[in-house]
Amino acid sequence: MIERRSTEQPMPVRVLVVEDDEGIAWPLRRGLARSGYEVETVASGREALEAGPADVVLLDLGLPDLDGLEVCRRLRALSDAAVIVVTARGEEGDRVAALDDGADDYLVKPFGLAELEARIRAVLRRMNPGRTHYTVGPLTVDPRTRRTTVRGEEVALTPKEFDILECLVADPGRAISRQELLTRVWDENWYGPTRVLDVHVAALRRKLAIEGLIETVYGHGFRVVPGAEVGD
Ligand code: CA
Repeated sequence: MIERRSTEQPMPVRVLVVEDDEGIAWPLRRGLARSGYEVETVASGREALEAGPADVVLLDLGLPDLDGLEVCRRLRALSDAAVIVVTARGEEGDRVAALDDGADDYLVKPFGLAELEARIRAVLRRMNPGRTHYTVGPLTVDPRTRRTTVRGEEVALTPKEFDILECLVADPGRAISRQELLTRVWDENWYGPTRVLDVHVAALRRKLAIEGLIETVYGHGFRVVPGAEVGD
């Protein structure tokens, strides 16, 4: 059983995608929905301001009707949603202005879905400190304090081991590719030996000692098995 503890809502995270380029909006919508987000897509600033409540707004600054920064300011005044602005490469001035206008983070086009989801998790964590900790069977992982416990006993993990585990437990059941893990935990341009990942996963399995928790998905990567309750 997976439970996201205590005060965190069991509801899916609602993401409002404000993007007039359908070639970008559509794959984002599909990808985020596949990852369990509830997604609404709009193509203008006006629609963004009239959209239903969201937890996170992904806001393209280059909109056909209103100035993106103006939309950012008004969204900020209207709602508690986290705002992640999206700009084209080279628009550094806009990014700085957006952060000054209350945006929580920014992404530069082109960006990948994995990076977007990591940013979404990060802004939600900052908004709800302490609310998100993950429990899978006897395992609890708290990204805010970076503490890991198994049956209430703290397990000492290295920073990389913790980062790998956090990626996996944040999305139980999803097979996460080796490349995604290397990208998220090491560096977005990791081209070194991937054996380093196996070494860390082996160490994690040994330290956590929860049989069946981290499953190898052959030819792809790893996943955390939500039903891994064993290991008493
Ligand atoms: Ca645009």
